Amino acid sequence: MLRITELKLPLDHADDELRAALLQRLAIGSDELLDFTLFKRSYDARKKSTELQFIYTIDFQVRDEAALLKRLSHDKHIGPAPDVSYKVVGHAPAGLTERPLVVGFGPCGIFAGLLLAQMGFKPIILERGKEVRQRTKDTWGLWRKNVLNPESNVQFGEGGAGTFSDGKLYSQIKDPKFHGRKVLHEFVKAGAPEEILYVSKPHIGTFRLTGVVENMRQQIEALGGEVRFQQRVTDVLIEDGQMLGVQLDSGERIASRHVILALGHSARDTFRMLHGRGVYMEAKPFSVGFRIEHPQGLIDRARLGKYAGHPKLGAADYKLVHHARNGRSVYSFCMCPGGTVVAATSEPNRVVTNGMSQYSRNERNANSGIVVGITPEEDYPGSPLAGIELQERLESHAYIMGGENYEAPAQLVGDFIAGKASTSLGEVEPSYKPGVKLTDLADALPAFAIEAIREALPAFDKQIKGFSQPDAVLTGIETRTSSPLRITRGADMQSLNVKGLYPAGEGAGYAGGIMSAGVDGIRIAEALAKGMLGIVA
Ligand SMILES: Cc1cc2nc3c(=O)[nH]c(=O)nc-3n(C[C@H](O)[C@H](O)[C@H](O)COP(=O)(O)OP(=O)(O)OC[C@H]3O[C@@H](n4cnc5c(N)ncnc54)[C@H](O)[C@@H]3O)c2cc1C
Repeated sequence: MLRITELKLPLDHADDELRAALLQRLAIGSDELLDFTLFKRSYDARKKSTELQFIYTIDFQVRDEAALLKRLSHDKHIGPAPDVSYKVVGHAPAGLTERPLVVGFGPCGIFAGLLLAQMGFKPIILERGKEVRQRTKDTWGLWRKNVLNPESNVQFGEGGAGTFSDGKLYSQIKDPKFHGRKVLHEFVKAGAPEEILYVSKPHIGTFRLTGVVENMRQQIEALGGEVRFQQRVTDVLIEDGQMLGVQLDSGERIASRHVILALGHSARDTFRMLHGRGVYMEAKPFSVGFRIEHPQGLIDRARLGKYAGHPKLGAADYKLVHHARNGRSVYSFCMCPGGTVVAATSEPNRVVTNGMSQYSRNERNANSGIVVGITPEEDYPGSPLAGIELQERLESHAYIMGGENYEAPAQLVGDFIAGKASTSLGEVEPSYKPGVKLTDLADALPAFAIEAIREALPAFDKQIKGFSQPDAVLTGIETRTSSPLRITRGADMQSLNVKGLYPAGEGAGYAGGIMSAGVDGIRIAEALAKGMLGIVA
């Protein structure tokens, strides 16, 4: 298999023009080309003055690869394609009686469970929330009726935190073994659109994600795995530094010397329990801020110029960073083109926001988190749990600011910069459900964060004209940008002080998004499988 990069075609090219362009560039006849597949399609929106083009990477097979490579040896964009296929690290031996446990069925737990099942380990997966259809109803209960179910919501339940999301699947993690390709292939196998395999910024969207996670659960079950819902792990059984199993809220104990913890960043009760049991953990940096909403058309025009609204490009996104004078960095986080701001608390009497989109990304507004990085050294020294305590304080205060009914405090950008409370909306209608309460957000976050965001918004306006327009809306607050702690693991991927305990994914501090959590799930399953196979051998 060979690969060609930087093959450029106009945005509006017909499907068959791709093959023609490939033949022309390779200077071969049609019968020479045996097969080709799209590996990547991107475009460079920074060059708005020139004609925007799609840039393709294509893998292809020809009759005589050696001859073609020799003839085109001067072309640095053509060469052998790397092997990105996935190979399992081993298979469970027949008669293996001990079953590994996976706690949590978000992207990390799903991929860990799937890989273990594919290797024949028949994992038992324990998820505190409900299966996705019931969970969807409970989540809408908060968004529509101001009623929170603390065990079944945006954070907890089948599919984990990313189920009601934009389903963005890009990540900047190092991935030398191409585990990200395995994640994408499994998503497609489970019903995600095929284009996620090649578009440069793939996303699935909420509606499709729910079907995808259901199908993945069925695959795990068909391979002998078990997925149990409404089974909250409330204790870990550890003896002489060795994991022996877990206890559930029902009192049931399940024995296993091999347990993956894929808890997500919101399992605060479980973090506290683990800390109480002496599992090594440390505080880590995260970020706090607000969601900002603009009309999607404003973002499209700023990012795509005359191509704004082009059907092949879809709704535009952005990524912004500003280093403020007070030493803090402000950046855009989890940008959702054509989406909505959502209520994302999992705890009573707290308010926290996030964003989601459907696959079509055709809602009126664009939204993103505008967040400020904070660190344990500067902002929450002491206990590994101090970051959680800070999140809780901020989220409780936001609940009070919002009127104590799960509405979120909000303010117009113009008023926020001017330092006065908002009293009425302009043209931008906030999408947060169950609703917003207009107020002054100045004391929703620590003073240094407010100061940094006030400085950043006009600076962002220089990159996206209209970004600090007076009637853009800020909705508070964003606190769960990543885990506030790390359950540190060693080179064998096990906890530093509990053998057989495999901390993984976002909650353990080893991922920050759906793709990286999925990749970490694969890595942790491989490490666990090696550990178990070592024991059996
Ligand atoms: C609204 C929203 C939108 C998002 N949008 C995107 C996006 O577009 N792209 C992106 O890459 N990322 C997005 N994210 C972030 C992404 O969802 C997370 O990074 C990812 O889900 C982390 O995966 P995980 O498996 O590590 O943890 P989680 O997905 O949080 O899963 C952890 C699971 O563990 C379960 N659990 C916790 N404690 C226990 C216990 N004691 N016993 C049993 N089960 C337990 C929880 O119920 C949960 O289902 C979004 C998040 C939210 C909330």
